[in-house]
Amino acid sequence: MPHRDSHDVIVVGAGASGLAAATALHAAGRDTVCLEARDRTGGRLLSAPTADPERALDLGATWFWDGEERVRTLAARAGIETFEQHLTGDTILQEATGTRRLAGNLIDAPSRRFAAGSPSIAAALAAALPGDTLRLNTPVTAIHPDGQGRLAVGTPDGTLHAEHVILAVPPALALERIEFGDALPADLVGLARSTPVWMGAVAKVVAQYPAAFWREEGLAGAAFSRTGPLEEIRDMSGPDGRPAALFGFAHARTVGAGFDNAVTAQLAQLFGPAAATPDILHVQDWSTEPWTSPSTVRRLADYSLFGHSLYQRPTLDGRLHWASTETATEHSGHIEGALAAGERAARAVLAVPDVLNSRIVVAGRE
Ligand SMILES: Cc1cc2nc3c(=O)[nH]c(=O)nc-3n(C[C@H](O)[C@H](O)[C@H](O)COP(=O)(O)OP(=O)(O)OC[C@H]3O[C@@H](n4cnc5c(N)ncnc54)[C@H](O)[C@@H]3O)c2cc1C
Repeated sequence: MPHRDSHDVIVVGAGASGLAAATALHAAGRDTVCLEARDRTGGRLLSAPTADPERALDLGATWFWDGEERVRTLAARAGIETFEQHLTGDTILQEATGTRRLAGNLIDAPSRRFAAGSPSIAAALAAALPGDTLRLNTPVTAIHPDGQGRLAVGTPDGTLHAEHVILAVPPALALERIEFGDALPADLVGLARSTPVWMGAVAKVVAQYPAAFWREEGLAGAAFSRTGPLEEIRDMSGPDGRPAALFGFAHARTVGAGFDNAVTAQLAQLFGPAAATPDILHVQDWSTEPWTSPSTVRRLADYSLFGHSLYQRPTLDGRLHWASTETATEHSGHIEGALAAGERAARAVLAVPDVLNSRIVVAGRE
């Protein structure tokens, strides 16, 4: 059956934020579609499968913390298995002069993880939406007022129309990938172009091993490095240490020829010779992901713009709303912030009383 081209609300992006917005709108009875550029949901929630189908290694978000009630509640309601981050053991500090062992875990705060990987959060939200809500492989390329009081949303498959649009993508990416003509106010354009993408300039490196051998030596798997290429390293093993893994963050500019060898040499220097030969080394460079990071991502650094007041107000006659973790006023950068921003945008849509009436009038004319 062909898709309808007119909806109450179009949500752009099926990451945690867009899915949270679509969930709230669907629950309130609004005709909503969620357009996603990639062939998968989750955005910055991404994991690599392991031999055990119930365990995965996170290549994007990993943890949630006390006080992040939306994530905790969602995981509990959806029956998602979570477990505590391994904390026990000493920390290693790496400096140009060598490595030092420091007593205790000086890096990790208590947190929880998702046993099957953080995409389980997105999968749970997506699974609860009606089947025709989500359209994958559908990048939004343009958004304009349509001259009839609604917004026209361009995609490679054609133009859709909606009373409201929620932009659940990082603002700087939206400005680079979506054509708005001269419809947006200049201050908003300047703000969005300057707002960093959380973790967008980072490469996450995950090394999987046959066993968490560092734990047997009283190490937490936690390290800071002043030399790199990995700057911060953590234990990323699953529940009970299986699968066994370490992960580290590197600045994306350091990824290139020789990077993998530099990483395994560094891991061996920190954790001993067994660390030199991981079973698998995953390198996920988020700066080269076209649906996460704009070309400017490595230059964007003013995190005080997160949650800016302009993102809390709709624009284009009250019809275009901002979501994404970058627009959240609390827990911005985190999954919790993404969910909060999606819910806030949905509430703003629902606060406009005439959406449903207007849809009935339009449908009546057809
Ligand atoms: C390496 C890394 C580690 C992290 N660690 C943690 C952590 O431990 N804990 C934590 O809470 N958070 C962490 N985060 C942050 C967390 O992943 C994000 O806060 C959250 O996933 C953002 O969700 P979002 O929906 O706002 O954006 P995104 O996940 O970026 O979703 C945006 C979606 O929009 C889609 N899209 C983009 N442009 C278009 C377009 N034009 N048309 C249609 N679709 C489009 C994208 O494909 C994507 O699916 C981490 C992130 C990274 C990258």
